[in-house]
Amino acid sequence: MANVNEILSQARKEKRTVLTEIESKTVLKEVGLNCTDTRLAATRENAVALSKEIGYPAVLKIASKDITHKSDAGGVKVNLKDKADVERAYDEIMASARKKFPNAVIEGVTVQSMARPGTEVIMGIVKDPSFGPVIMFGLGGVFVEVLKDVAFRIVPIETSDAVDMINEIKGKRLLEGYRGQEPADLAYLQHMLLKLSDFVNTTPEIEEIDMNPVFAYKDGAVVVDARIILSAA
Ligand code: ADP
Ligand code: MG
Repeated sequence: MANVNEILSQARKEKRTVLTEIESKTVLKEVGLNCTDTRLAATRENAVALSKEIGYPAVLKIASKDITHKSDAGGVKVNLKDKADVERAYDEIMASARKKFPNAVIEGVTVQSMARPGTEVIMGIVKDPSFGPVIMFGLGGVFVEVLKDVAFRIVPIETSDAVDMINEIKGKRLLEGYRGQEPADLAYLQHMLLKLSDFVNTTPEIEEIDMNPVFAYKDGAVVVDARIILSAA
């Protein structure tokens, strides 16, 4: 995984522990996880060109090593349908980010394809002081924030653990297709959890991984936002 090592050592060199969205998704792609195609645009013109290349509708997000919670900065604009939408979104993101984080160094915006809606789930890794890396799975949005409906296992996990984690979720019915909603591809989600576990198990410098949200579909799933944090040492 040459790409992964390069990204980790570049971050170290810059004395950074938080990887950008693009770096995080590049690492996760290398691990074998499907992520939205995400590129950096340093200018408004570049954002328009990349949107055209990736295809509308596009999504623009603030790209700054100093801003990790992009929505808090007014830094996420979805469903941009044409050039005019992208130009407006770019200007709004910049104005809002500069106002809310006046000291942030802004690289530009990321441009990515708009994922079609699916069931929002989250996956991640946190490090426990006594157990080491712990893998997490849950339903996204209000389910994780308000209901804390999340399952945890110590890394490494096996297939049966991945199956159990998904079965443990109180909102499991939502993954089975609820009121006409598309059911989630549970085998694929299990496979993603195993890949994540294997990666972290063999990469001790990972402190935290946050994949929030992942859109789950009838066939497969896609990581829409990701953040990786490296250990301080
Ligand atoms: P934050 O840094 O605030 O967590 P996100 O990248 O998660 O920012 O974006 C906020 C929300 O915007 C997501 O929870 C998701 O609902 C939506 N979103 C982000 N990226 C995409 C995308 N590529 N396609 C569709 N929806 C997206
Ligand atoms: Mg997010």
